[in-house]
Amino acid sequence: MKDVPEESKDYHLKVALRIRPISDADVEEGATIVAHKIDHQMVVLMDPCEDPDDVLRAKRSREKTYMFDVAFDHTATQEDVYVATTKNLIDAVISGYNATVFAYGPTGAGKTYTMLGLDSEPGIYIRTLNDLFEAIEDRTEDLDCSVYMSYIEIYNEMIRDLLNPCSGYLELREDAKGEIRIAGITEFSTCNAKEIMSLLTKGNKQRTQESTAANKTSSRSHAILQVTVKQKSRVKDINEEVRVGKLFMVDLAGTERASQTQNRGKRMKEGAHINRSLLALANCINALSEKCGKGAQFVNYRDSKLTRLLKDALGGNSRTVMITHISPASTNFEESRNTLVYADKAK
Ligand code: ADP
Ligand code: MG
Repeated sequence: MKDVPEESKDYHLKVALRIRPISDADVEEGATIVAHKIDHQMVVLMDPCEDPDDVLRAKRSREKTYMFDVAFDHTATQEDVYVATTKNLIDAVISGYNATVFAYGPTGAGKTYTMLGLDSEPGIYIRTLNDLFEAIEDRTEDLDCSVYMSYIEIYNEMIRDLLNPCSGYLELREDAKGEIRIAGITEFSTCNAKEIMSLLTKGNKQRTQESTAANKTSSRSHAILQVTVKQKSRVKDINEEVRVGKLFMVDLAGTERASQTQNRGKRMKEGAHINRSLLALANCINALSEKCGKGAQFVNYRDSKLTRLLKDALGGNSRTVMITHISPASTNFEESRNTLVYADKAK
């Protein structure tokens, strides 16, 4: 593993928080707003059982405020979130480093909105690809550069190709260099942003979404957009070295607990698998954040498909960004608190 440049150490794990706007459905349920952004890094979560006007008291109480590298509320645009979390990963990926961006949080908190977005409000996937193509155009005088993308989901520890759903379940393989690959994955090579957005929207419709008691449609799968940038010198015979950078953009499964969604049978099994990969991910991120500090811990990537796949893009010289999502509604207080506590541990 290459040495990490001293000045960029703190950049290797960035944890952001996004509070989505309150929705009409929340208001109809009688919800009030309990999650507030206090400044560009701090948020407060008010216990709905306490006096809602006493924000200042809560600000002083350690248990109720949470610090992030960057915090967003309903006033943040898709562009704001993209620029502060993901945009500067592009240079790293072009320079041959790997990176991962996660959207983490309960169902309905805004993960898919942040990553995929809407046609009118495109999210991180499309903004990243657009800027990546632009950056490549600017620097391809002496380099041959190609971009490949693939889009998969991990559901119940099984991998499906969202761009080719008929291909069945795919397997992870380790190649001779020890790199993890998905055997039989579809890789698209295109630099047409419109085409990509339609591919992603189509792929997203293939995601495994089923009803639980808590939500009408809950994403029970992790969706992973993988972008690979390969560069080769145009000047012949300089030992043909290819520089490869990979970027994973991950819309994680909802973090709601099995008990909360009253899941039984099949749902329970899904819950167990989701928790297993989220737990494995949490352990990896925890170990990595420890590593950035003093005591190096053993990072166990083997515990789930998700962490195995991301092995080359977590830790080492990789950049990792976690965008945590919560609802501002009093009716989601418990899950928001659990989410904030988890994200706090990741730091
Ligand atoms: P998740 O993927 O975490 O389950 P979604 O992204 O599907 O949640 O968001 C739930 C709903 O809230 C969707 O209708 C989405 O359009 C809306 N929403 C989420 N975040 C925002 C936001 N920042 N601004 C506007 N609408 C949002
Ligand atoms: Mg979603």
